[in-house]
Amino acid sequence: PPHRLGWAPNYVFNQPELERVLRNRLSQQKEAHVFLEAEVLDSGQDSDMAWVDVKLSGEATVRRFTATYLVACDGGGSPIRKRLGIELEDLGFDEAWLVIDAIVNDEKLSQLPDTQVQYCEPQRPCTFVVGPGNHRRWEVMLLPGEQSSGDYPEAVLWPLLSRWLKPGEGRLWRHAAYRFHGLVARKWREGRILLAGDAAHMTPPFMAQGMVQGMRDALNLAWKFECIFKHKVGEALLDSYQAERHPHVVATTRAAMELGRIICERDPQKARQRDADLRAKQGGVIKTTIRQNMIPGLASGLIHTTAPGAGELFPQPRVTFNENGARRTVWLDTLAQSRTCLLAVGQPSDAECKRLQAMAKRIQAALVFIVSDGGTALAQAGLQVEEQGAVMAPWLASLGCRYVVARPDHYVYGAAPDLDELEQMVNGYLHSLGR
Ligand SMILES: Cc1cc2nc3c(=O)[nH]c(=O)nc-3n(C[C@H](O)[C@H](O)[C@H](O)COP(=O)(O)OP(=O)(O)OC[C@H]3O[C@@H](n4cnc5c(N)ncnc54)[C@H](O)[C@@H]3O)c2cc1C
Repeated sequence: PPHRLGWAPNYVFNQPELERVLRNRLSQQKEAHVFLEAEVLDSGQDSDMAWVDVKLSGEATVRRFTATYLVACDGGGSPIRKRLGIELEDLGFDEAWLVIDAIVNDEKLSQLPDTQVQYCEPQRPCTFVVGPGNHRRWEVMLLPGEQSSGDYPEAVLWPLLSRWLKPGEGRLWRHAAYRFHGLVARKWREGRILLAGDAAHMTPPFMAQGMVQGMRDALNLAWKFECIFKHKVGEALLDSYQAERHPHVVATTRAAMELGRIICERDPQKARQRDADLRAKQGGVIKTTIRQNMIPGLASGLIHTTAPGAGELFPQPRVTFNENGARRTVWLDTLAQSRTCLLAVGQPSDAECKRLQAMAKRIQAALVFIVSDGGTALAQAGLQVEEQGAVMAPWLASLGCRYVVARPDHYVYGAAPDLDELEQMVNGYLHSLGR
């Protein structure tokens, strides 16, 4: 620490728990209606509206819901995608794996690895995953001729785990066989209907990016919908959804597939060569690479075409400032929230301050100054904050810049060395938003 994005590079959690938290939060929004155990039977659109026909739990009749836009996040088998006739592009990975979750006894836990391990062993590649609490996961590659779907009896599962866990040292919780593949929809939007999550893409799990990619889709759409509905921006803005997300998903999925190919090597000779090559590349020393560094930025869409930093994720220091006589420390994102952020490094002169305020107003941005003398909240002039640890100032300095514009989803639109270039960039940002 400090980590560039503020948070630790990795967290593990149980997906159903997270989904419960998200559902609870959603049901507290007064604009949202949550219907569980409801089945979408049909969907479609005309020039005014998109619609879904839904069989609600406990109701005999089918209800039609209409909306300006419909986001199909109905999973890898997406019936909505199929009705639209949108094909998936196969990026060329197809392996059968068995995923086994176990709850391990307390006394056994300390004997298991305390971090994720990929066992790149040609006789049976497998992955060990540390889950929250006593939850541990084993993902084992299924070999040719082995059962690759359906239910597996414990008599088959325990021998697969015998190297780590024996009956009596934990209990098997659940298991499922999956085909790990790299698939991406050729089209992400058809008129008023947009695909998101697994409906739009599936990745082998070797970089643990499946659900994360879906979250990126949701963030990408959320601020654009806000622009369209609140700020009356034209719907052409939604064309940038596929332009931004498709290449990002393809690059991330290809990186996961590349890792998968390294892990899944079954030829002993080639596996020995792979090990030698990997060691040689590392100079004979095992080095740590954090996964974040393998995830690309945005390469196209609503980012400046030439400005430094364009498409990178906005760094996030912890920042401190004086507020009502007390010292407050927050994450930078807390200040910008889901607005555009215009940030400057250094104590601003009065003239600079005025120009920056005018620019921030035009793009409805939070205006933040990173200063070195404590930081004071100045309502009209923007917020002056001091960063804890060297994150933002060195990053901007490495780009040769003092100013940066970050989009509401915390991707950098671009950085600028001086006010004139910044002004041009702000004009470009407004133009690309269609304002
Ligand atoms: C073994 C394994 C390990 C993984 N590990 C990770 C990881 O470490 N990190 C990570 O980020 N991701 C991981 N993933 C991927 C992650 O689980 C998925 O990417 C994620 O669940 C996709 O979310 P989604 O909402 O798009 O689709 P889903 O989770 O599939 O949800 C789609 C929902 O739509 C519903 N639905 C479908 N049709 C209808 C209909 N007609 N009417 C009503 N509802 C419908 C389904 O019931 C389902 O609830 C892993 C996946 C697997 C298989």
